[in-house]
Amino acid sequence: MATEQQKNSITTIPNELIAPALLWVGQHDNLVARTIDFLQQTLCTKGNCKICVTCNQINQQEHHSIVWIEPEKQYTLDDIGVIHRTIAFKLEENQKFFFVLQKADYLTQVCANSLLKSIEEPPNGYHFILLTERHKAILPTVVSRCLISSFYDQQPTDKHDGLFQFFTGTAWTDPFAFLKELDASQINEPESRELLDKLLVHWIDKNKTARLEKKSKEEKKAQHVLTILKHAMLKLPMPGSSKLFWKHIFIQMKET
Ligand SMILES: [Zn+2]
Repeated sequence: MATEQQKNSITTIPNELIAPALLWVGQHDNLVARTIDFLQQTLCTKGNCKICVTCNQINQQEHHSIVWIEPEKQYTLDDIGVIHRTIAFKLEENQKFFFVLQKADYLTQVCANSLLKSIEEPPNGYHFILLTERHKAILPTVVSRCLISSFYDQQPTDKHDGLFQFFTGTAWTDPFAFLKELDASQINEPESRELLDKLLVHWIDKNKTARLEKKSKEEKKAQHVLTILKHAMLKLPMPGSSKLFWKHIFIQMKET
């Protein structure tokens, strides 16, 4: 059984999902705490023990493999210079390095442009975590390169809870009910992206819980669904093709 602490700690995000970059939306202090917890899970060799040197350094924001950046007002090129200087170095195999950009909504166009390539295709081992309280204030060029997770209690995609149910239930058996729901939802492209993010978070959590509880059948299923969702993430719907996009995912899941 998972302990309460394990259940309460942030969803583990598999390494392959970290790329190209994560964008976390929520209340600032809450996000910082989540980031610390996530980094401890990722870097602590004792599995997020909270007491080792690594965990302590991460908590103090002094770990050598993490650069925390917080702008005074707007981001300046000086603020992000450290990224360009650091990323020029090749990491050892299996080494990880994280840049945490706090208040990412304060990235100016100039700063964002200078980061786009790094965020999209960071050299091996480098990862970006962008934190913001205001999702809508982030430049679209940045958003489109990130995997978004919202940690506000109020999920922005409550509107599509009906669809959400179809992709999280144990049975995907009723295509007619699904098509009816899909038609009624009028889901558009940005909403599709949000729903996909929400589903990823849901299934990553399912996968983790199944692993902790040693339920291998459920774990296998969650992993299979994650493969479908991650694939979909790479092929987000073009304008006007959201319904087709979700039909396709539904069919793939039904085949499992
Ligand atoms: Zn530790």
